[in-house]
Amino acid sequence: MAQLLFKDVNKVYPNGYHAVHDFNMEIKDGEFICLVGDSGCGKSTTLRMIAGLEDITAGEFYIDGKLANQMSSRDRGIAMVFQSYALYPHLTVYENLAFGLTLEGIDADVIEEKVQATAKILGLTEYLERFPRALSGGQCQRVAVGRALIRKVKIFLMDEPLSNLDAKQRVTMRSEIKQIHRSVGATTIYVTHDQTEAMTMSDRIVVMKSGGYVQQIGTPYELYFYPKNLFVAGFIGEPPMNFIRGAVENGKFKGCGLELELSPVVKDVKSLEGKKVVFAFRPEAIKLENDSASYRLTSKVELTELLGDNTNVYATVGEEEKVNIILKVNPHHTPEMGAEFTFGVPHVSAYVYDAETEEIVENDVKRH
Ligand code: ADP
Repeated sequence: MAQLLFKDVNKVYPNGYHAVHDFNMEIKDGEFICLVGDSGCGKSTTLRMIAGLEDITAGEFYIDGKLANQMSSRDRGIAMVFQSYALYPHLTVYENLAFGLTLEGIDADVIEEKVQATAKILGLTEYLERFPRALSGGQCQRVAVGRALIRKVKIFLMDEPLSNLDAKQRVTMRSEIKQIHRSVGATTIYVTHDQTEAMTMSDRIVVMKSGGYVQQIGTPYELYFYPKNLFVAGFIGEPPMNFIRGAVENGKFKGCGLELELSPVVKDVKSLEGKKVVFAFRPEAIKLENDSASYRLTSKVELTELLGDNTNVYATVGEEEKVNIILKVNPHHTPEMGAEFTFGVPHVSAYVYDAETEEIVENDVKRH
């Protein structure tokens, strides 16, 4: 079992760069956690601190209740898979999998048993005699995962393990890694810049922003439906959430030619009077029917993109101050380019953020 606890963990590199700020989190035994955020936001640094490859500058890090700041990498019970799978080219898949165990002087028959069991989990049994050059990228990455897996560790660390694979292989490996996690049960921390990867694989996601600031920690469901600030709202979801900037006047959102009554979607409209806010909604949350529980918005269609299961509509809202939005519509109801397109944003799918603090405005909206 491996439960991890971070208390105000900070990393300042020797050159003075503060790469991780006050990282606080408890990771439960067996959880699959993704650290997600743009390049340079401190994901790998955090992972390397867990691995013991990087010192923790301040704060405390515990593994199973034991302070681990000074614990050697060896004693942490971790295995790590990196972006570059770095297999030994002159060794077969079998030998690559067995390599670490051979070094540890483990008996050949025990190694045989472990290699076969690991190969079975990863679907590599028929490739054991092959050399890496005769494998696809996905198979190589599976061997790399296998090398980590074979050591029966309690913590799995993965740093962008799929980024060298093509799109199709990535999708396949995503579900394979999930299945491996389910069967092995090791606590897993997985670093990616790809929000889709994070959404599809994680029990919980940590969204980080450049400078090493944690923005929100939650399940994929929580982050998608309840993003607590503009950064998370814009980061999670593809295409990203639409933002329309404006101000509150007489209880209404005004901006880009829109006038929207805010009382259905914020708790205390009065406290917002005169404030700059952002009205937001997801491209896929719109509806075409008119009803009293939706806002009506009119846009001008600039471009449409048929994707098969839906169409992305690139449109603008407003006359003088125009703002670009993206809408996802049923391909059978794709509007004409250049046409006016009126749609509804259900109150349950509308978000209001304070433009200054970038935090969500307090509300009681139950998203569904
Ligand atoms: P990510 O994994 O999110 O892309 P990293 O954790 O690798 O980000 O890096 C976070 C920040 O710390 C980056 O701005 C990077 O340039 C900086 N950084 C990483 N390693 C070092 C180092 N050894 N010395 C100084 N700065 C570093």
